[in-house]
Amino acid sequence: MSIPKWRAAIVVFLVGFALGLSVFAASRLFVLSVLNGDAIATAEELAGDIVRGEPVATSAALSSVISYTYFDLQGDVIETASLGDSGYADLSAAERGGLTSLAAKGGAVIEDVSLLVSLIGPAASAIKRVAVPVVSDGTMIGTLLVEVDQARTLLALTRAFSVVAIVTIGLAVLAVIAVAFVVTRGYGFREQKVFDPTAVAHDPLTGVPTRAGFQDILDDAVERAAENDRQVLVMIADLDRFRSVNTIWGQAVGDAVLKIAAERLRALATAPTGIGRVSSDAFAIIVEGDTVQSAQAAADRIRDAIAEPFEVDGASVMLSATLGAALYPINAENGEVLLRAAAGALSKAKAEGRNALAVFDTEMKERMQRNEALERDLRNALERQEFVVFYQPQLELASGEVRGYEALVRWERPKEGILAPRDFLNVAEETGLIRPIGDWVLRKACADAASWLDDSLVAVNISPAQLRTRDFDKTIAEVLEETKLPPQRLEIEIPESLFLDRAPEVLQALNRIKALGVRVAMDDFGAGYLGLTSLTHFPFDKVKIDRSFVAKLTEDTGVAAIVASIATLGRTLSVDVTAEGVETSDQVTLLKAAGCKIVQGFMFGAPRRAWEQRAAEDDGDAEVSAEPNAAASEAG
Ligand code: C2E
Ligand code: CA
Ligand code: CA
Repeated sequence: MSIPKWRAAIVVFLVGFALGLSVFAASRLFVLSVLNGDAIATAEELAGDIVRGEPVATSAALSSVISYTYFDLQGDVIETASLGDSGYADLSAAERGGLTSLAAKGGAVIEDVSLLVSLIGPAASAIKRVAVPVVSDGTMIGTLLVEVDQARTLLALTRAFSVVAIVTIGLAVLAVIAVAFVVTRGYGFREQKVFDPTAVAHDPLTGVPTRAGFQDILDDAVERAAENDRQVLVMIADLDRFRSVNTIWGQAVGDAVLKIAAERLRALATAPTGIGRVSSDAFAIIVEGDTVQSAQAAADRIRDAIAEPFEVDGASVMLSATLGAALYPINAENGEVLLRAAAGALSKAKAEGRNALAVFDTEMKERMQRNEALERDLRNALERQEFVVFYQPQLELASGEVRGYEALVRWERPKEGILAPRDFLNVAEETGLIRPIGDWVLRKACADAASWLDDSLVAVNISPAQLRTRDFDKTIAEVLEETKLPPQRLEIEIPESLFLDRAPEVLQALNRIKALGVRVAMDDFGAGYLGLTSLTHFPFDKVKIDRSFVAKLTEDTGVAAIVASIATLGRTLSVDVTAEGVETSDQVTLLKAAGCKIVQGFMFGAPRRAWEQRAAEDDGDAEVSAEPNAAASEAG
């Protein structure tokens, strides 16, 4: 409702008052007409008494007679009497003639001094003058002019009617309020259905609402804030390195820690239900009626709550949290955008380092809008065939021969030119578009590889979202069938991060894919926090040492030692150890010494649209290492 409440209240009262007043006035008019009727009836009775020669009755139910004058058709007074202090004896003959013709029409109230007064309030005197015909044997023989007083009756009725009036006005006001309430709130009744935050979906582990449930609660909070001109602060607390808790202490301890964290944070939310588990290790909290200034204070409270050690089964787990905050209505116009804004702030805080707080700002808003535009374009890019696959060679260190190519997607936009994955894959991940894009890359890479002259591998990056798709193994089988690529020539690269929580469904999916004869590689090894033993959790065919590790190789002897132990373990488990991001010959020397089997990097060739040498005999190696920089520039 946009009308201020006090104005609405005045309108309701005025309408109610007018309604009550009209009911009151209508009833008064009705009473007055009853009184008129009674005055005429009283006069007619008096006329009857006179004709019959009976004693005159001067007091009727409602009217009492003060005086009367009886004159014949010629206007001559036959009888007159005054019972109070009034009388008509002094009427002129002409006046009496006029009254006679009025009376002849059936009797009439000819003067009512009380009418106006009595409409407004109690009348001290209510005198009516009435002229009625005097009739004998069916013929009019004269006119009777009677003066009656109805003051007492009117007073009593007025008192009664004052009560009626007050009650009527009160009831009318109530009725109008009820109608106004139903009309303005009718919406609210249906839409909110008296929103029950406990009825939303809850997370079975922590007992707090799920992301979807929390979104409902947040939407409701924002709606209420909009009505009351209040603000809503949403804060997402993401537990830093939580995955390592599972890896180090085990799943049971991890679960217990999450439960305790949820309880601690629940105590900080303004409403007991103003909290939700928005991802596996992040909670969102509503701080209603707050401002950006107090975000810092709220953040401190949340951080303190998380910094407290988590004592579980003798383990004392220390955690920290990264926070993102956004404020309604400054950062978002509704609950959905608000939660996304807080998530955007969280990503920024994460980029700034753990244990940081970022509040959603205009720069982030712009980025979000850019991302939205990107998402729209991304949706059309597949149809418009704007994606291309680049290939980067992977060489065997010992022989220097190309063993395979990694397929790396590029987006060729008509105006912007070639975009690298970092410029659009995040948005694709967030929106789920990564699935169709990833499937397209898979199909394209397999089709390309099937046309190559040699039988080198083709390595395709698979995103977590793709791998978690139902029947992803069937998709792969279909693609192999369609493209006629032998399964052992396909290698899928799975990021290390997917193994952090050792989800059984991930391992099952990988086992089904491996059963097809497809090779499975662990990508970006060392980028996360997985220990060497993680290589034993699944029979990988290859492990790719992360670029960041290779980069530190020449500076840090510790890193060289780690690479050597990875290579040793790899040989034991028959896992091919690959180093990616190799750029210098010093790195090559160290990798050789460490026992690394395969290398990939700008040193041997950047990703390129096509490797002509694959079709042109076997002078591939020379050409590959001859022009790394030219190739690198094409990669954009
Ligand atoms: P990644 O799987 O680690 O791919 C290797 C990335 O390192 C590629 O970046 C490649 O261009 C770059 N690179 C190769 N050699 C060197 C080097 O010597 N030095 C340096 N500094 N970088 C080198 P790119 O192509 O931009 O891809 C980035 C990431 O995008 C990939 O990282 C991969 O995670 C993802 N990605 C690329 N294509 C796909 C795809 O089709 N599907 C999925 N799901 N992810 C993809
Ligand atoms: Ca890769
Ligand atoms: Ca990688």
